[in-house]
Amino acid sequence: MLTLAIDMGGSRIKMGLVADGTVRETAIFPVDSAAPLAQTLHEIERWADTLAERSSVRPTHVGLAFPGIVHKGKIVSCNGKYAGAEKFDWQGWALERFGKPIDILNDAAAALLGELHFGAARGAENAVLLMIGTGIGAAAAVNGHLLEGKHFTLGMLGGHIAIEMQHPRKCSCGNIGCLEAWAGTWAINELAHESPLFDGSCLRRMAYVDYRAVAQGMEQNDPLSLRLFDGAVAALGMGAVNLVHAYDPEVVILGGGPTHIPSLCEKIAAYVRQYAWTPWGTVDVKTTENPETSVLLGLHARSLM
Ligand SMILES: [Zn+2]
Repeated sequence: MLTLAIDMGGSRIKMGLVADGTVRETAIFPVDSAAPLAQTLHEIERWADTLAERSSVRPTHVGLAFPGIVHKGKIVSCNGKYAGAEKFDWQGWALERFGKPIDILNDAAAALLGELHFGAARGAENAVLLMIGTGIGAAAAVNGHLLEGKHFTLGMLGGHIAIEMQHPRKCSCGNIGCLEAWAGTWAINELAHESPLFDGSCLRRMAYVDYRAVAQGMEQNDPLSLRLFDGAVAALGMGAVNLVHAYDPEVVILGGGPTHIPSLCEKIAAYVRQYAWTPWGTVDVKTTENPETSVLLGLHARSLM
C-alpha cells in the first residue's frame, strides 16, 4: 500500500509517498492560496511526477488534506483559501491524473489520524488535537473513530469554541470571542498592534508579530511579549479544557509551529491539570510526535482503514 499524500497548507503544500507508516519521499513548495486553483493543481501534478520518478512503485491510494470543511470527501467550505475548491471536480481530476479516486480529509483530522496511528496518540482510542497556526484547527476521535457529524464539523470547530464574553473579539469564522481570536497567529499580531505597550516593545520592529517573534521578545523580558504569551497560554488552556469536557479524551495533542516554544505545552498541560474536571486522573497533553509529517501519515492511515 503506497499513498500519494497531499497536504494543502495556507502558505505551502507538502506532498509525500507513504508506505508502512513511513514517509518515503517528500516535496515541499510554497504556494499562494489566493492564486488560481488551476495554477496550484499544475504544481501538484508536476511534483507528483517528480515523486513518481524517485519511486519504483506506483501509488495505490491518493489522499488530500484541505484546510476547510470537508464532508464525505467533498470540500464544503474554504474560508477564503483556494477559491473554487468547493466546485472543483476533484474525483475527475484524480482519476484522470493519477488513475485513482482521491480521499479528501480536513487537515487537522488527518493530523490526528496520523498521531493516533503512528505518533503521540498511538495506543489511545480517544484523543483531541489542536493545530496552532494562522488559525486554530481541531479534530476529535472517540472510540478510535474520527468524529464527523451530519456536516463533518463535529470535533473540527474546537478553535471556534468561544472563551471570552467580556471583551469579545471578532473571529475569522464570523463568531465573537473564539479561541482562535485570542491565540491564532493572526490574533497575536492584532493584539500586539492594539496594545498600549506596542510602541515601547521590541515587537514594533516586526512586520508581523507571530509566536516566534513573541518567543524572541520573551528572551529579552519584553513586557508585551510576556503578556501576549500568557494570554495565548490561558486561551489555549481554556480551549483544551473545553475539549476535554466535550470529548472525554485520553490525550490532548498540540500541533503547529508554536509548539516548538518549550514552555507552551508545559503550561497548557498545567492549565488542564488545574482546571479540567477529570476525577479519574489527569489527561495527557502532548505535542505532535511527527510535526512535519503527521498529516501525510494520517492520509496514509486512512488508506489502511
Ligand atoms: Zn471563530
